[in-house]
Amino acid sequence: MDAYIITIGDELLLGQVQDTNSRFIAGRLTRAGLEVVETRSIPDRAGRIAEVLDEALARAGVVVMTGGLGPTRDDVTKRVLAGYFHSRLVEDTAVLTWVEELTGQRGGEMNEGNRGQALLPEGCRVLHNPRGTAPGMWFEREGKVVVALPGVPFEMEYLMDHEVVPALRELFPDAMLDYRVVKVYGIAESALSSRLSGFEDRLPPSLGLAYLPSPGLVKLRLTARGEGIGLLDGWLDGLTGELSGTRFTVGEESGAARELGEWLSRAGENLSVAESCTGGEVAREITLVPGASAYFKGGVVAYSNEVKATLLGVSRESLARHGAVSEAVVTEMADGVRRLTGTGYAVAISGIAGPGGGSPEKPVGTVWIAVATPRGTVARVFHFPFTRERNVARAAMKAIEMAIDAVRESVVEAGMPAAIREVDDEADGHPDN
Ligand code: ATP
Repeated sequence: MDAYIITIGDELLLGQVQDTNSRFIAGRLTRAGLEVVETRSIPDRAGRIAEVLDEALARAGVVVMTGGLGPTRDDVTKRVLAGYFHSRLVEDTAVLTWVEELTGQRGGEMNEGNRGQALLPEGCRVLHNPRGTAPGMWFEREGKVVVALPGVPFEMEYLMDHEVVPALRELFPDAMLDYRVVKVYGIAESALSSRLSGFEDRLPPSLGLAYLPSPGLVKLRLTARGEGIGLLDGWLDGLTGELSGTRFTVGEESGAARELGEWLSRAGENLSVAESCTGGEVAREITLVPGASAYFKGGVVAYSNEVKATLLGVSRESLARHGAVSEAVVTEMADGVRRLTGTGYAVAISGIAGPGGGSPEKPVGTVWIAVATPRGTVARVFHFPFTRERNVARAAMKAIEMAIDAVRESVVEAGMPAAIREVDDEADGHPDN
């Protein structure tokens, strides 16, 4: 079954927002066994939406569109869809109740805009959106499906995973396909394929293994169709068993911690952490990635000065003279945990998460982060303006990003092929080192 994706929003065409929805939806539709034949981004204009919908339905049996459902957009997409399917907008009481509840929870007041979220084309199947006020809509006509989802990625992703994909799987059971990706580092494709030839011979016909080489790594895709889907995870275990002794990560989704693992694997290096204000958050992020044991040795939550001094070897003089939240102490923490664990790289964090504990010289949100490497140790200070919880989360993320940069530098310096990384220069960290 062919599928077509339409993302709607002027901001996509103005270059203000990157269209990540298409990518996510394409991945999910592919896994549901559908073939995405085209993706289009179009403006919030009623006439254009209807035109492109015509084209999409001429080419594909399933059309998934996102955006333009919210109260701020005068509901362009909804009105277009109501007209397209010859229905009218009627109030859905379940959606109205949900919008009232959510608006109350968020401390807002009901107004015409959010009440309008409950106006939906008569006859569509309403897809409940527990993450926001705009529900998704599912239309069927002459055996074809049109799905409209909110533009906010976090809401769209929920509806894809919990509503759209399960419904498509039911509708097109024969198309079902699923896959797992394993990235293997530092081994040539030919050597890998001879190592895995026995495994490939044993694979049942409903499963297949593909090799996708790129600089420094080979991606293995284990694909299952139909009855093979139930066997997929068992065979994935078999595959990772065959790979023991090599450096590999399971899964292809990006994320800073996963990326850090990939760079460490590529460099053949390992890492430890020393955390004060983040209380183990960095270690948690790193260990959420399957396969992290290949490159993560462990960490110390050195919350008190006592532990900083006794376990990590931070000098009492530095603690007394500069305070725990300082360049000198964070540098000694990173060096200390690196020495203690014998890793190539180490990250340390010391900061004031808030809400109390700040001073004029070191206000709440001041966080020092150091990365110790085989080439030396660097430290930076950040000033986060958030609540305690968010300061901790941002500090942990920054620490992971600094570690990625340090490992990547060494990979590039060593002349190993380096993949391109998208850098997100966000404004909220105010780095001022
Ligand atoms: P809302 O109820 O929040 O207004 P909506 O369905 O009207 O939802 P839009 O207003 O079109 O959605 O988009 C909301 C936000 O979601 C945009 O500001 C943008 O940041 C993000 N967004 C929209 N479309 C995309 C997309 N294709 N890819 C990534 N982000 C997107």
